[in-house]
Amino acid sequence: MAPELTQSQKYHFKRELEQLEKAKGQHTELVSLYIPPTKAVHDVTNYLRSEYAQSSNIKSTGTRKNVQAAIQSALGRLKNLRTFPANGLAIFVGEVLTGNNQTRMEAHIIEPPQAVSTFLYRCDNKFHLDHLKGMLTEKDVYGLLLVDRREATIGLLRGKVVQQLWYDTSLVPGKHGRGGQSQRRFERLIEIAADEWFKTVAEHATQIFLPMEGLRGILVGGPGPTKKYFVDATFLHHELQKKVVDQLFDTGYTDEYGLKELVQYAGATLTELEVAQERKVVQRLLEEVRKTTGGLAVYGEAYVRKALELGAVETLLLSETLRRESIDLECQSEVCGNTLKATLKAEEVDAYRPPKCPKCGSEMLIARQTDVVEELSVLAESSGSTVVIVGAESEEGETLAKAFGGMAGILRYNVNFEKVMPAAGSGASP
Ligand code: ZN
Repeated sequence: MAPELTQSQKYHFKRELEQLEKAKGQHTELVSLYIPPTKAVHDVTNYLRSEYAQSSNIKSTGTRKNVQAAIQSALGRLKNLRTFPANGLAIFVGEVLTGNNQTRMEAHIIEPPQAVSTFLYRCDNKFHLDHLKGMLTEKDVYGLLLVDRREATIGLLRGKVVQQLWYDTSLVPGKHGRGGQSQRRFERLIEIAADEWFKTVAEHATQIFLPMEGLRGILVGGPGPTKKYFVDATFLHHELQKKVVDQLFDTGYTDEYGLKELVQYAGATLTELEVAQERKVVQRLLEEVRKTTGGLAVYGEAYVRKALELGAVETLLLSETLRRESIDLECQSEVCGNTLKATLKAEEVDAYRPPKCPKCGSEMLIARQTDVVEELSVLAESSGSTVVIVGAESEEGETLAKAFGGMAGILRYNVNFEKVMPAAGSGASP
């Protein structure tokens, strides 16, 4: 099973897809190629050569030329390969419209997060991205837990696939036993048996879910009020308890069929749940901001960067809509070697002219350009911070984007910024 994507990888992949989605060809001259890892390289090159030969039948000279150039480009990418990477490859090449009927040859080589299952060659006026998009959502993993007093089932939802991992029945007797004096004693024994049963269920949940990385949440369901009791009485391991999705789901069954019911009922709200998790984090940030003393919020790019550098960030919040590029400048004078950093809006990058070196007056050149969300999330992940990339759909997402410039953090401990960032001057509390 392929490892879960980190938030930064997921973001990177999403942005790549966005770029590809925008690309349009003048005619059916954009080539999409999906190659499974098991495919032999020479099979693919042979296939492309035969497509190249067939394309000589294309009537329009322009289209023919462009299709052939795209295929040539794809062939060029394969030239030095002996085998394909573990997940295969997705290749997108062609003359992409840039406006004013101008085109530019683009080639994107993607190593997908999951294995490509079937070979696909398409020539169209857009790139074919459905396979890759599917891989993005298939990475979302939810734990499923159905429980009542008689039965319990534990399963997993991976993308759209439901998998049963454990099932058992209890020995808890029915509530209505005998009447009379011994009834109360009997009922107490039943409750003890039921609690033992819930403990067993929770133990299995711990064994299955706790070691799982990237588990987004746990959906709990069942026919009666038992599921609520099970959750409220915190039978689950505290790490799992935190992942239980607030809403509990009424299902008719507690077996494998119940798992399907659970997913069906939860399906409509899974997207909302994702948004709800993001909202929770923004609300926590706001709580920290409101504290008059000892608040653990940090915002303002310079402060967030500093806190990340110190490894002081517990949770990093980034707006998906940030669209900022981080530019590394290098002085061209060899003796100087000065470097500077600048952050620009994505649309400003093309027109950007670097300043003269403040140290020696030489030209400065752009040495590196990185998407800020990607840069900061990689930085955060490397120091064990949780990264939450917040979409703009919710009010909280908008707050993060507008009031906090799209980036903020919740700190692990208080940082004296005046001390660690003397250049920021007094009143440096962000
Ligand atoms: Zn310089």
